[in-house]
Amino acid sequence: MEAPHRSLWLREALGDAPPEPPLEGAAQADVAILGGGFVGLWTAIELKQRDPACDVVVLERDVCGGGASGRNGGMVLSWWPKLSSLVARCGAEEAVRLGRASAAAVDAIGAFCDEHGIAADYRRGGFLWTATTPAHVGAWDGVLAACEAHGVDAFERLSPEEVARRSGSPAHLAGVFDPVAATVQPARLARGLRRVALGLGVRIHEATPALRFTRERPLRVDTPRGSVRAEKLVIAMNAWAAELPELRRALVVVSSDIVATAPIPDRLAEIGWTGGEGITDSHMMVAYYRTTADGRIAFGKGTAAVTFRGRVGTAFDRSDARAAMTEADLRRYYPMLADVPLEQAWGGPIDRTPTSLPMLGHLGGRDHLVYGIGWSGNGVGPSHVGGKVLAGLVLGDPEARACGLVDQEPDPFVPEPARYLGAQVVRAAVIRKEHAEAANRPPRKLAVKVAALAPAGLEDKG
Ligand SMILES: Cc1cc2nc3c(=O)[nH]c(=O)nc-3n(C[C@H](O)[C@H](O)[C@H](O)COP(=O)(O)OP(=O)(O)OC[C@H]3O[C@@H](n4cnc5c(N)ncnc54)[C@H](O)[C@@H]3O)c2cc1C
Repeated sequence: MEAPHRSLWLREALGDAPPEPPLEGAAQADVAILGGGFVGLWTAIELKQRDPACDVVVLERDVCGGGASGRNGGMVLSWWPKLSSLVARCGAEEAVRLGRASAAAVDAIGAFCDEHGIAADYRRGGFLWTATTPAHVGAWDGVLAACEAHGVDAFERLSPEEVARRSGSPAHLAGVFDPVAATVQPARLARGLRRVALGLGVRIHEATPALRFTRERPLRVDTPRGSVRAEKLVIAMNAWAAELPELRRALVVVSSDIVATAPIPDRLAEIGWTGGEGITDSHMMVAYYRTTADGRIAFGKGTAAVTFRGRVGTAFDRSDARAAMTEADLRRYYPMLADVPLEQAWGGPIDRTPTSLPMLGHLGGRDHLVYGIGWSGNGVGPSHVGGKVLAGLVLGDPEARACGLVDQEPDPFVPEPARYLGAQVVRAAVIRKEHAEAANRPPRKLAVKVAALAPAGLEDKG
C-alpha cells in the first residue's frame, strides 16, 4: 500500500525505480550520513567531488526524498529575505557573503540539473513576496532597508498593479520581487541527486533507520538489521533530529501542508499567472504557492501544528483539517478559480529554529559528529550551501568552520511540556490575529502580544 505521506511530487518521481537495499550486517565507511534528503545527498555528492576516494554511506529510514525534500513547495529561494536575521547572527560581512552564496545556489541547482540530466522542471520565475491584507503592506521594508544598508540589490519594488498582474489576482495588494528565485519539482530533484550520488560511488541504504549511534570513537551506527562503523558521521535528519537529546531544544517541529489543483493551464493563462513566479503572502502562518509544469497550482501553508517533544511519527503526513485551512487561503486569494478541483493534499514536518536560520556544527563539540539542521521551511536552495559546508566540516576545511552558521549557540526553546503547551497557545493567538487581519479588522491586543512569541518566520517581516 502506498504510504499516506507520498506527495504529488513523490508519486510522479518514484515511478518503478527499485529502492536501494536496506543495510544487512556489519559495514564500514569513512563517512556515514544519516538522512537521504537534500542536505544528506548534497553533502555526499560534495564529499565525493572533493575527495573521490572518500567512502560514503547514506542511511535513509524511508526512501531518498521521502522526508521534506520530496514534499515541499519546490520554491528555490535565497536567504535575502532573512538578511536582518543573518546580520544579527553573524555580522554584516558574513551575512552578505551567505546571502550571495544562497543566491548563487539557486543558479547552481539549475546548472546541476542541466549537467546531470535531472528533469526537475527547474524554472527561474523569481519570487514575489506579497501582502494580501492592508496590515501586511510593507512587511518587507525592514529587509529592503537592510539590503540597501549593505549594498545588496536583491529586490525590485513593484507597483500594486504589477503585483496583481503577475500573481493573477487582485487579492495581492502590494509586493516586492526577487528575480533570482526558481521553482522545481522537488522530489525529482531529490531522486536525481540520489542517482548522481550512486553514480559517484556513494552507497545508499533505504528503509534503514539509524536507531542509535555512539558519540565517542570508534563511531558505530546501529540499524534494525546491521551496523556501520565510520570515521565521521553527518546528521542530516531534518525534523527527526529533534529526537536527539543534544538537538531537541534547538528545534520546534511544525506542520506545513500543501494542496494541489487539477491541471488548469488555460485558467492560469486567463488570470495571467504565467511567469512561473513563486509567491508568498506575509502571514506568520505563511502561504507559499507556485504553478507546476503541467499547469497546476501547488498551494502550501505553514499550518504550525506541533507534537509533544517534536516527535515526527505520522502526525505531519496528512490532515484533513490542515488541508482545509490551506485550501481556504487558496480560495480566498484565487476566488475566480473556486470551481477548480483539488487533486492532492499532503503535509510534512518543518525543523524550525528560533531564528529560522539553519544550525550547522559539531555535536557536543566533537569533530567527528557533524550536523546540519533547522532549515525552517527554506531548505531547497540553502541545502546546496549547507552540503558544501558540511562536507567541508567533515574534511576539516577551515573555510567551512569559519561559516557564520557553524557552531552558533542560539537561545534554545523552552523545555517540555512548556514548549508543547506554549506552542498551542501561540498558534491559537496567531490564528486569531491573522483571521482579524485578513478580514481587515484590528486584532485584539492580547492576540498580538501572544502571537509575537512565535519564532521568526520564513522572511524577516516588519
Ligand atoms: C510541506 C513542506 C513545504 C516546504 N516548502 C518549501 C519550499 O517551498 N521551499 C523551501 O526552500 N523549503 C521548503 N520546505 C523545507 C524543505 O523541504 C527542507 O528544508 C529541505 O528539504 C531540507 O532537506 P533535509 O535533507 O534537511 O530534510 P529531509 O528531506 O526531511 O531529509 C531528512 C531525511 O532523514 C531521514 N531520517 C530521519 N531520521 C532518520 C534516521 N534515524 N535514520 C535514517 N534516516 C532518517 C528522513 O526520512 C528524511 O528523508 C518545505 C518543507 C515542507 C515539509
